[in-house]
Order: sequence, then structure tokens, then C-alpha cells
Amino acid sequence: MDRPGKIVCVGRNYLEHAKELGNDVPSEPLLFLKPPSSVIDAGVAIELPPDAGRVDFEGEVGVVIGKRLRKASAAEGAAAVRGIVAANDVSARDWQKNDGQWARAKGSDTFLPLGDESRAPFDLAALTVVTRLNGVEKQRASSAEMAFSIPSLLAYISKYITLEPGDLVLTGTPAGVCPLSPGDVVEVEIVGHSRVSSPVVSGQS
Ligand code: ZN
Repeated sequence: MDRPGKIVCVGRNYLEHAKELGNDVPSEPLLFLKPPSSVIDAGVAIELPPDAGRVDFEGEVGVVIGKRLRKASAAEGAAAVRGIVAANDVSARDWQKNDGQWARAKGSDTFLPLGDESRAPFDLAALTVVTRLNGVEKQRASSAEMAFSIPSLLAYISKYITLEPGDLVLTGTPAGVCPLSPGDVVEVEIVGHSRVSSPVVSGQS
């Protein structure tokens, strides 16, 4: 897809994933940003920074905004979604844990593989995300299992951050995240909509 204007992400939005990393689902959505420079297209390699330690995939439903949202209701948020995109929120866990801010943990170059944007009809409450590592299924969940629904996330984000056409929202990852190693191939699919496959290589120092 075209490079998004900005990328707003939600952490710990599926109970089972929050638990697998030793966290609770927060009482309000946990927001963070990824920079547009982290985006890569399907087929382009994820580069593991040599000093990063553990780097995980996170398969996620990405929603592309089609209409400006500011202090929107959930219904207005739902109506403003233009398309659906498969996204891999690549995450360096040691940096995420130790840095305090998640800028390099979540925002390093190549840390956001994106599929093509689907504009086929969609049901925001019934989107299935599947992640495969070397062809083996590791994650599968429906957006119905989210702690905060997509429309409510868009309302929450737009209370604080105006969403513009072309912006991208990543809606959190379900349970099943695993570390990536050089030579792996990781694929995220939003069933019936979008898919992104990425080889994994060692980055240069
Ligand atoms: Zn994520």
C-alpha cells in the first residue's frame, strides 16, 4: 500500500497475548506509534539488528483511515475505515522491556511489513488474522476476541490524536508470538483481504 501518513498502534488488545508476555489487558487502550520509515512491502526482508537480541513477529489487522476523525464516536470511526491491510508489528523485546520508550523496539527500519490494502467489503467484528512461520501456523484469532473493538479504538485514539485519510491503525496481536531468526519466512494474512510474506535476514552493523 502507499506509505501511511502516520501509524498508531495498540498494545495488549487480546487477553491471551497480554498473558503470554506476563501482562494484563490495560483498562484503557495502550497506544504507541511506529514511524512510516519502518514500512516495507511484501517480499522485502525484515532485517534483524545485530544488537537487538530477541525480535518477534506480531500479526495484526491494520485498518486504513479514509475520512478525518477527531473526537469521533465509535460509529463514526467504523464508517471512516477505508480498507484492511495485513501488518506485521515486528518488535525487539529486549529493547521494548529496557528502553522505557519503544522507538527503536517498534520503529526500526523494516519493522513493519504491510500487505496490499483491501477495499473488499468487511465486517470489523469478524476479521481473522493468521500468522505462519516457515509455513507453520502460529497465530489465529478473530477481531471479535479483541479487548477493545476496532470502532472503539478509533474513537479512543481520535479523542487525543486526529486521524487523517491514509493513516494506518494497528489493532494489536493475538497470542502466539515467537522470535524470528535469519532464514525464516513469516507471513501474516487477514483472511479474504490481504497478506504479507517476509524473509528474515541478519542486519548489518
Ligand atoms: Zn503489536
